[in-house]
Amino acid sequence: MKKQVKFNLNKQSGNARTGLLQVGEKQVTTPALVQTGDTITTLTPGELTKLGTTAIKQSVLPYCLAASEGQHPDFGDLHTRLQWPGLVVGDTGAEQAYRWAKPRGRKKNGVSFHEPASGQQKLYTPEIAMEWQAKLGCDLQSTFARWENYYSPVDDLQAAAKQTASWLDTANPGSLATITGGGLKRLRRFSVEAVQGHQFSGYNLAGIDEDVKLTEQVRVIRETTAMLPAAGVRYLSTCGSLEQALLAIINGIDLVDSDCAGQAARHGVAFNRTKRIHLVKEHFLADQGPLVSGCGCPTCRAGYSRSYLHQLTLAKSPLGVRLLLIHNLYAVNHLLAQLRQAIATGQVDDFADDLAIG
Ligand SMILES: [Zn+2]
Repeated sequence: MKKQVKFNLNKQSGNARTGLLQVGEKQVTTPALVQTGDTITTLTPGELTKLGTTAIKQSVLPYCLAASEGQHPDFGDLHTRLQWPGLVVGDTGAEQAYRWAKPRGRKKNGVSFHEPASGQQKLYTPEIAMEWQAKLGCDLQSTFARWENYYSPVDDLQAAAKQTASWLDTANPGSLATITGGGLKRLRRFSVEAVQGHQFSGYNLAGIDEDVKLTEQVRVIRETTAMLPAAGVRYLSTCGSLEQALLAIINGIDLVDSDCAGQAARHGVAFNRTKRIHLVKEHFLADQGPLVSGCGCPTCRAGYSRSYLHQLTLAKSPLGVRLLLIHNLYAVNHLLAQLRQAIATGQVDDFADDLAIG
């Protein structure tokens, strides 16, 4: 079934924008984080929603591979399967397939690779990726892109941008067009121009790997968003630090992948705005104070002390990770709500100064 994607921009402050993304009955006020990784495998959908999450990401590749083992399971719609009431952002999983592939696996019609789990040779094509995103009911779908490392030789990045553009015709209606080109402005421009004239709901800025230096990420995001028409939702499908997500938004991105809440919790770290509390530190043993005073999250409101959270962190307790994750997810979504407010009132510069970012 075709999903109607609507995106209305409301306000702009500097390069940052706030708007409303609607897919069928589902709505997301942007900018927003798309939760992925540890966060969505640790918390229930009810918890995610209560803590302010409106969108999650799912790669369709594992479903596709599981189904190609000679079985034909019906996974149904992901909203039903995962019991998730919000937006499902589909990921083709092409990047994973290319990471598994050898150089000769880069084919004209897709990517050929040995699946590590089964050892079997597989061919993953743009058509298969689009079919699975539709079959699983992904609200936002992206076009298939040939992945290259950000720092690959120019020839490889160029071949990838051309091939990705040649696959635009396979897209499901309403998809996001994947923009590639590594850190090269010329190739990003080629990629943006190739998309014009097609019917897309927006853009997925891909290939900005999380190990690329933050200043470099900001440069390429800023350059690319400046090339894009204002209409259409802009999605950064790179999952990095909280600062990276905030800087991407300040530079014109509407949706950003994020697992910073989960990653920090797993390392015994709690957010206080963009500051970090490292609970492993010895002095917290004697600290009976709340995690962050004035925080409205369930962990802080319940009254767990820093001393107890320190004890749980040292013991690598799953409860400790959960309590920190609940706090962190609330904290980052609260920060996003403040950022949306700052954009709406034209105060995004003050917001960035206050957090000492940008
Ligand atoms: Zn809290």
